[in-house]
Amino acid sequence: MSDCIFCRIANKEMPSEIVYEDERVIAFKDINPVAPVHILIIPKKHIPDMTAVTEEDAELIGAVHLAAIKIAREVGVAETGFRLVNNCKEDGGQVVMHLHYHLIGGRKLGIGV
Ligand code: AMP
Ligand code: ZN
Repeated sequence: MSDCIFCRIANKEMPSEIVYEDERVIAFKDINPVAPVHILIIPKKHIPDMTAVTEEDAELIGAVHLAAIKIAREVGVAETGFRLVNNCKEDGGQVVMHLHYHLIGGRKLGIGV
């Protein structure tokens, strides 16, 4: 079993509230939401952080982005707007070292979140 919690979620070895899944991407509700909509979108492939993305991941990152748009439509924030956030490494506030994007919305967001 992987010692990465997001790999475990992607492999269904750990429970989560999955809201979207396709071949390469999975998305689930953040356990500590900062807004009415707070979903984490991750590639199933383990990539530690954004700086580890390579040319060969270009399509995968595109798939993550397209998933974000679909999810935004499904949860009803595509019209009102939302934020898609990647925290990268220590200064960026990254805690879980598996590339992920926070889809946050459902309220007016300030300069932080
Ligand atoms: P980051 O600071 O960008 O690394 O964000 C990690 C996010 O993962 C935080 O918002 C946590 O609330 C969230 N999180 C951690 N463990 C879980 C989990 N098991 N299921 C859902 N969300 C999680
Ligand atoms: Zn992982």
